[in-house]
Amino acid sequence: MPARIHSIQGDITSLELDAIVNAANSTLLGGGGVDGAIHRAAGPELLEECRRLGGCPSGEARISGAYRLKARRIIHTVGPVWRGGAYRERELLASCYEHSLQLATRNGLRSIAFPSISTGVYGFPLELAAPIAVKSVLQFTDGRDDIGEVVFCCFSAHDLALYQQVLRAART
Ligand code: ADP
Repeated sequence: MPARIHSIQGDITSLELDAIVNAANSTLLGGGGVDGAIHRAAGPELLEECRRLGGCPSGEARISGAYRLKARRIIHTVGPVWRGGAYRERELLASCYEHSLQLATRNGLRSIAFPSISTGVYGFPLELAAPIAVKSVLQFTDGRDDIGEVVFCCFSAHDLALYQQVLRAART
């Protein structure tokens, strides 16, 4: 069965999936945006575990428990800060999606939700980031059956409209 890949508007902390992805910073010690929301919702035990992970370079991912969340695990990935596009930002963003999915499959996690990595405080233009997100996920899931569902969890209606357009375009 091919993976069901779709986009929704909502708060990623409320999703009941095997894994949710956090757009973390390289310290893994919490921050603003979706990172802050995940730490608040999961509880202080998450920070304790994250301290032991020892950070994460941009483009890679780490896994932790999900504590008070309904998801089973949290995958923390560190997106690139947008610096105009000449600093491997696109490649690093794609790598975030790939590494997160790789970690999910290695841990037997079949359903996963992504926020729009790097497009908040990190300033990656959404119009460039969404096609990279969709392409990376489609490429990773193509021909394999260990991922059943991938959700692009958009915080705003504007983001959702763009992801829906990109997903439609990718399928035609
Ligand atoms: P980054 O530092 O990687 O840019 P941000 O957290 O600033 O990360 O933003 C990434 C995306 O996550 C933005 O589109 C932001 O609107 C969105 N976001 C913020 N809070 C939530 C949440 N609770 N659920 C889903 N997405 C969220």
